[in-house]
Amino acid sequence: MASVTLSGIEKNFGDTRVIKGVDIAIGDGEFAVFVGPSGCGKSTLLRMIAGLDDPAAGTIRIGERTVNGLPPKERGVSMVFQTYALYPHMTVKDNMGFGLMIAGTDQSTIGSKVAGAAKILGLDKLLDRLPRQLSGGQRQRVAMGRAMVRDPQVFLFDEPLSNLDAKLRVQMRTEIRALHQRLKTTSIYVTHDQIEAMTMADRIIVLRDGLVEQIGTPAHLYDNPCNTFVATFIGSPS
Ligand code: ADP
Ligand code: MG
Repeated sequence: MASVTLSGIEKNFGDTRVIKGVDIAIGDGEFAVFVGPSGCGKSTLLRMIAGLDDPAAGTIRIGERTVNGLPPKERGVSMVFQTYALYPHMTVKDNMGFGLMIAGTDQSTIGSKVAGAAKILGLDKLLDRLPRQLSGGQRQRVAMGRAMVRDPQVFLFDEPLSNLDAKLRVQMRTEIRALHQRLKTTSIYVTHDQIEAMTMADRIIVLRDGLVEQIGTPAHLYDNPCNTFVATFIGSPS
């Protein structure tokens, strides 16, 4: 695991500034949740941590390293997306191992990493199935397995449950938290769902329009929202 520190992060798309100077320090082993309305910049921040996009200004540190300019695969992070984008013609096993294969990892290492992740995720009996032969929750676990086999220090989740029905969403929240605990990683989880944030986070970072509004534990934000935006968003009693 590793800490993740964002200092003075800014990002523009064309003439529009979408991230306007963000400072966030996430601790080693923490489960941090970025929450805020659609369009506030959650995915953009996550993509910059992953190295899929570059900030216009500011520094991103993962553990002891400044990672600005480093390619994604050298950052020690793995990202789980909202749309799982599993390869439809590949088995569960091959979907999970594909990233390692193209990175040139040898077959026996891939085999043991995939088997290890599959066991933890309860996919060990499903390794030869195709994605279309899986339920939504199982597909979501394959997407997590694909991220896990790379042994990341930091897991990044971008609204991973929004395609699931309500009951499964509740179950998967618990599973993702348990996985975080078990793998002892640092996790950054993006959602626009307040309940998800309140039930999963060690600390919540409330974002609005490219800026941090407030950072705190769920209990702290609930009891001491810094303004009406946070109060309304978190659902605090007024
Ligand atoms: P969120 O994930 O919180 O919904 P995003 O980070 O996706 O928000 O987007 C933040 C803002 O940046 C939005 O206004 C969005 O329209 C804009 N944006 C995101 N990606 C791009 C892009 N590739 N080109 C132009 N604008 C973008
Ligand atoms: Mg988003």
